[in-house]
Amino acid sequence: MPGIMPGFDSKRFVNITDVQKDDFMCGVCLGILNNPFAAKCCKQLYCYDCIREWLSCSTTCPYDRSLMHISDLKRSDTVADQMQDLVIHCEYEPYGCDHTMPLKDLSQHMNNCIYDPERKCGTCGLTMGDINKHNCIELLITEKERYRRENLKLQSKLQTYKEQMFEDERHCWDDPLWCM
Ligand SMILES: [Zn+2]
Ligand SMILES: [Zn+2]
Ligand SMILES: [Zn+2]
Ligand SMILES: [Zn+2]
Repeated sequence: MPGIMPGFDSKRFVNITDVQKDDFMCGVCLGILNNPFAAKCCKQLYCYDCIREWLSCSTTCPYDRSLMHISDLKRSDTVADQMQDLVIHCEYEPYGCDHTMPLKDLSQHMNNCIYDPERKCGTCGLTMGDINKHNCIELLITEKERYRRENLKLQSKLQTYKEQMFEDERHCWDDPLWCM
């Protein structure tokens, strides 16, 4: 399944054991489970998004090929509980966030992480990008320049319309028949 990997890269976890890696592995993406669901047929665990995506183009369990429908899976609260204290790195570690937290606090952190490159800057209002390279002033100047050019383009268009109208009107006076 190209492009789909809702599970976590095991490298993001601090001190995860090999046993935990096996116990908490998704049977589809082979990453660490994200929102674990268990299959009725074989008790195999899958990320909810992984198995839902799988079943959108298959009718069988990826593990034992039993007939499977999404309603045959049940969220595994037990496994989710066992996982909630695993310590994980922020997703934006490559952008400079060195925050680690228990898995249960991850989503709250992700909503507030200042290293999120899609975040809007509180000062200039533009997309943050790489926080270490973000420069409000520079971005605002670039943005202003873009508006100025846009504006010039519109003005010259308006000028062309005006000239065209004037031209048409002049024809009317010079040669009333031309307009009819
Ligand atoms: Zn998965
Ligand atoms: Zn199965
Ligand atoms: Zn972060
Ligand atoms: Zn800014």
